[in-house]
Amino acid sequence: MPELPDLVHVEAVLSREACGLPIADVRVGDPVVLRLMLPDLFPAVLKDKRIVEVKRCGQFLRFDLDGGLCLVVNAMLSGRYSLAETGARAGRDVILALVFSGGTELRYADETRMGKIYVARADQLDQIPGFATLGVDLLSNDFTLPHMRRLVANRRDQVRQFLLDKTALASIGNAYADEILFAARLHPKTFCHKLQPDEVDRLFAAIRETLNAAIREIQARNQPIEVKVRDFLKVRGRAGEPCPVCATTIRRVRVGRDDACFCPICQPTERKLFVDFRKVPGTAKKKPMG
Ligand SMILES: [Zn+2]
Repeated sequence: MPELPDLVHVEAVLSREACGLPIADVRVGDPVVLRLMLPDLFPAVLKDKRIVEVKRCGQFLRFDLDGGLCLVVNAMLSGRYSLAETGARAGRDVILALVFSGGTELRYADETRMGKIYVARADQLDQIPGFATLGVDLLSNDFTLPHMRRLVANRRDQVRQFLLDKTALASIGNAYADEILFAARLHPKTFCHKLQPDEVDRLFAAIRETLNAAIREIQARNQPIEVKVRDFLKVRGRAGEPCPVCATTIRRVRVGRDDACFCPICQPTERKLFVDFRKVPGTAKKKPMG
């Protein structure tokens, strides 16, 4: 649920407000979300440690603690972070609360329990599913147009599924996949190998511009980290509403396992997707197989 622009904000707030404070106490909720990769007693191993650094890695948030200890969180669909005053009422979906000496606590809650918290040593991070295989960080200097062209050249899937592939691009979720495709004026079901060179260029620019604009917006709002700021999105969650560009009704369509929101006028289906067999030599006379 927290996507890259949300995590940039969470990373900044927690770097400022949670780093360097000794962990005086730890509360643990439903253990189904926890993955302990250490032989040490948990949560005792966290006591008196400090968070040294908070770092966003794709869809993960990595907390480096004293002594080479790491917490790596994959929030999946419903995980969320919050900072609260110690003793403030907490919901039953809190999975882990780090209580700092000084009166605040960092909570991670997960209503659907689909996320994971890995407790590991820094040299074990490669064993975390999906962590070592993360694709290019979309905010890094490694994400360039030539890199994007190389990625697209090897794909046979639909462009929206490509955007969601964390081993290629780190990381885009459902909301920003829709926003990026709208900005690039591409139908979500367009196949990657049908993209024209100028469309790949447009997609690359749309990824950067959409994510950077969202980061600026979320940082400007400066809401508490548990608040999901999404009201500025143009098509995501707006099926049935008018397109902000052309006023056509925004539609919802199934792409793979997910629903996509798109404008059928601004993001037209590529007619080239359908082969006109009357124009393909030799196919007209063939009998259908099977
Ligand atoms: Zn439109």
